[in-house]
Amino acid sequence: MKKSTLTAAAALAFGFLAAEKAHSAPCLLITLTGVQGGPSTFNGQAGAGTLVQYGEDGNNCRDVSLQFDTGRGTTQRLFQAKTPVGRLNAIFFTHMHSDHSEGLADILQLRWHFNSAGPKVDIVCSEDAKVTGPLTYTISCRNFAAHIGDALIASGEISQRRRENQKRLEGGPSDLTNVMAFEPKDEPSVVWSSGDVKVSAIRSAHIAGHASYRVDTPAGSVVIGGDAGNDTRKPPRETSTSAQVELLAKDVDVIVHSVIHPVMGPGKGTGFPPPIYYRQSDASDLGAMAKRAGAKHLMLTHLIPPVGAPNQGPPYPLPDGPLTEDDYRDAVSSSGFSGNVVVGSDLATLRLPGQ
Ligand SMILES: [Zn+2]
Repeated sequence: MKKSTLTAAAALAFGFLAAEKAHSAPCLLITLTGVQGGPSTFNGQAGAGTLVQYGEDGNNCRDVSLQFDTGRGTTQRLFQAKTPVGRLNAIFFTHMHSDHSEGLADILQLRWHFNSAGPKVDIVCSEDAKVTGPLTYTISCRNFAAHIGDALIASGEISQRRRENQKRLEGGPSDLTNVMAFEPKDEPSVVWSSGDVKVSAIRSAHIAGHASYRVDTPAGSVVIGGDAGNDTRKPPRETSTSAQVELLAKDVDVIVHSVIHPVMGPGKGTGFPPPIYYRQSDASDLGAMAKRAGAKHLMLTHLIPPVGAPNQGPPYPLPDGPLTEDDYRDAVSSSGFSGNVVVGSDLATLRLPGQ
């Protein structure tokens, strides 16, 4: 009798330990916060962005929350992903195009409104990149962050709301940013870390200052390619994908990447401008890259054209009608990639390790 009681107690204790262990197992959660490709709109899709979260099973992997790009509607998608904007530890930008960045004003204004006491949010992006030529310009994430609240200051709203609550910061939303700019290189370098989470960046081609990222955690790893394309801007070339992203993605678990379908290519009747086509990575080349890199999952996002859309934009109609998910899948599988393919939709998630 005594023996069996002890055994039962031991079993109970073991059960608790096992449950505790499962509860504290590390996990990585990847959520597409928006899959719209380019500045146009389709069917309520949010603009480009990916939420990467790391934590334990017991808190649904939500110890660290990192947002990569902040397209239109990111705030709403974050709410749906149970991650209020005040919970973001850092925001990373692949590049300064509005379809990847315009949601920042919304995120920071909301944070200033309700979380002015802080903490600041890290804004991680490339250092200023000057482009010389007929129309010399500088791509500047620093300026973007510094001036993110200017229209609201100019309209008088920031002052009006400060009179209501003087704890709100005087400089408006930009006072809540901590810009961590880096010089993108052709080799991965660590640009942000916290505890077990390490984020590396690499230079990639699309526009000046474009960078791609990799997050490494004990639960798994993910590469965020952004709109990266090959350094050689048009054929002849071996592939449309970025050699640097491929290097960054070596043996990674998941690649999240913007994609363009070959139907948008020159001569296919859409009228889509070839230079814009060639600066993206196409679906079959992404499959081939994922295969060479040894990735287990490929998440396609920023789909050009969107699944089900009669056109890209307007003004680029698809002569053979809207694409299906299978059209993207078929283009990827033609490369021989045999891993898991997610044809992205808003709020599509992937969790590592699998349950
Ligand atoms: Zn884009």
